[in-house]
Amino acid sequence: MMLVLIVQVSAKQMKESIKRIYEMLDSVSPLDFNCGSLCGEVCCVYDDGEDINSNLVLYLLPGEELMYEDSEHFDLYVIDPRQLDYPRKWKDDVFIVECRNPPHCDRSIRPIQCRTFPLIPHISEDGKLHLILDENEFPYVCPIVRDNIHLNEDFVKVTYEVWSMLVGNPMVHALISFDSRRRDNRRKGYTVVV
Ligand code: SF4
Ligand code: SF4
Repeated sequence: MMLVLIVQVSAKQMKESIKRIYEMLDSVSPLDFNCGSLCGEVCCVYDDGEDINSNLVLYLLPGEELMYEDSEHFDLYVIDPRQLDYPRKWKDDVFIVECRNPPHCDRSIRPIQCRTFPLIPHISEDGKLHLILDENEFPYVCPIVRDNIHLNEDFVKVTYEVWSMLVGNPMVHALISFDSRRRDNRRKGYTVVV
């Protein structure tokens, strides 16, 4: 009985902290206008038209899955991390969501990945957190990245604050470090924003 109570409280606290992060990011946008008007919201609707496996899915961070229970706008899936190119340290299930009707969704619960895009967290070899732009990470062209459009400063600041909090979770830190080492080894280049 006690164990059940602890798990429930922990899930509730987790959901509250995700909600707080969503609220922080709700107050900012990449540009001072709707950047979707530049590209037809390609980061929501990209479809290469051939391979069903290329449908855009969004990888959730730990706890985010709690936001999608019973949502009409998203399909939630769970994957064993051993089936993914994930760090060995990551033992928990990985959750992904697929939007049912992009670019329309319940924006109040869109994932962190959507809210902080096109900035990508990167941890340098000396352990410092950065935010970068990297056109090699996605299969479509984001005009902000292509044209190096100046991002709203509050967006960069709040996004940095949020990722600084998120990498406090050892699983998230391991994942971002894993991706960062692979990115550096790839030697294709990226732009460091902060
Ligand atoms: S983040 Fe980039 S790809 Fe997405 S809507 Fe804005 S400009 Fe388009
Ligand atoms: S969750 Fe919303 S913002 Fe994110 S890709 Fe889907 S439709 Fe776009």
